[in-house]
Amino acid sequence: MRTAIPEEQRQQPGVTDAEAILRTCVHCGFCNATCPTYLLTGNELEGPRGRIYLMKSALESPHETSARTLEHIDNCLGCLSCETTCPSGVNYGHLLEDGRTRLEPFRRRAVWDRLQRALLARLLPQARLLRPALKLARLLRPLRHILPASAARMLRSVPTTSTTAQRATPGVHRPEGPIKARVALLVGCAQQVLGADINDATVRLLHRMGVEVTIAADVTCCGALTHHMGERVQSQELMQQAVDGWDRLLNDGIEAIVLTTSGCQTAVADYGHIFAGTDREAAARRVSAATVDISQFVMDHGLPAVQSMRQVRMAYHDACSMQHGLQLTQPPRDLLQQTGVQLVEIPEGHICCGSAGTYHLLRADFADQLQQRKVAHIEQIKPDVVVTGNIGCMEQLAGGLRERPILHTVQWLDWATGGPCPEVLQHLDPTTMSANALSRMDSTS
Ligand code: SF4
Ligand code: SF4
Repeated sequence: MRTAIPEEQRQQPGVTDAEAILRTCVHCGFCNATCPTYLLTGNELEGPRGRIYLMKSALESPHETSARTLEHIDNCLGCLSCETTCPSGVNYGHLLEDGRTRLEPFRRRAVWDRLQRALLARLLPQARLLRPALKLARLLRPLRHILPASAARMLRSVPTTSTTAQRATPGVHRPEGPIKARVALLVGCAQQVLGADINDATVRLLHRMGVEVTIAADVTCCGALTHHMGERVQSQELMQQAVDGWDRLLNDGIEAIVLTTSGCQTAVADYGHIFAGTDREAAARRVSAATVDISQFVMDHGLPAVQSMRQVRMAYHDACSMQHGLQLTQPPRDLLQQTGVQLVEIPEGHICCGSAGTYHLLRADFADQLQQRKVAHIEQIKPDVVVTGNIGCMEQLAGGLRERPILHTVQWLDWATGGPCPEVLQHLDPTTMSANALSRMDSTS
């Protein structure tokens, strides 16, 4: 793609990098075929090629950026399906990141939009604020019918319960027996409140593998949620804390930083790029290089002995951050199959479920359509259970999958290797499970 960026504009930080990305795009449009918002609308400007063109125009004449341009950029899920599809290797993710930050000052957001974004950017990264905020939101839920649609959607999305970690608390957690490896674990800002049982399952599984787990008290959020919202002030502060905290642990002999939230990992894996040219760059690159998804870590170190094979019909949902951001699709499938499950592929598995960090709260129309589309595809294959590697997808799909339990990969692996039965599987309606699965579960729960 040819560019005509004025010289004075080119002097600004990041512009030459963005221009280099723009020039790799050859307009072929292959990416449109796998873009969720293009599939929903058929609108060129709601597809990656159109958005790339809009970002190019915004770089060439930033003061002429229209509200429509900003709307189309806001509507992008950041799912990176287009990156997986692109034959020219266009780094759409970095271009979008640059575009969102650069265009935000031109945005004239409605009052509720500004308030909603500010609330999310401040509450989500801090478990100590998120917990009471969710309690308040539950109390306000009956008022949702008289609130604006997006406020109602936020209240509707509030989970009915919060969770508290029993094991995954700050500190060093040693396994029984010899220590084979030492890792740091990110318990996640929202995950601590919405899925602490995932973190507990992770600690149990790692202990069974002989792995010592450190949860750093000073790394509470990796900054991914606010980073993907384009809220750079908040995300920078959180990312700096994470880089400093984890780099100190790496210097103390930790061999890896394990994450169970692939949405976070795409940001942490990009720390080297985010801190490029700063005095934290070297530390950020060390942290990025040491980061690993739990499924890859377990695959590399070996799954503990499976206590009882569980022959259920299972659908594995690839989170976009996992399949497009990290290009990690096989390890979770291989591990799940080691527990005896029959994996069935979800049709159109490469398309986002609409969760995408805070997107499902900020862009409810598209998010709801994508949720329904994904749920319909899952219902088509009639799985006994659905498993995924990201809590955002779990929450999004749980809102649509009324009959089918959904849980995190690590919860399943923990149960299969000797952990307690996950709560979502404890009260299953027997008529929704295959006979084979039932007999296994009855004898092993
Ligand atoms: S990131 Fe996803 S939603 Fe955005 S343009 Fe690419 S494919 Fe479309
Ligand atoms: S597939 Fe790649 S090269 Fe083709 S239009 Fe999309 S981003 Fe550009």
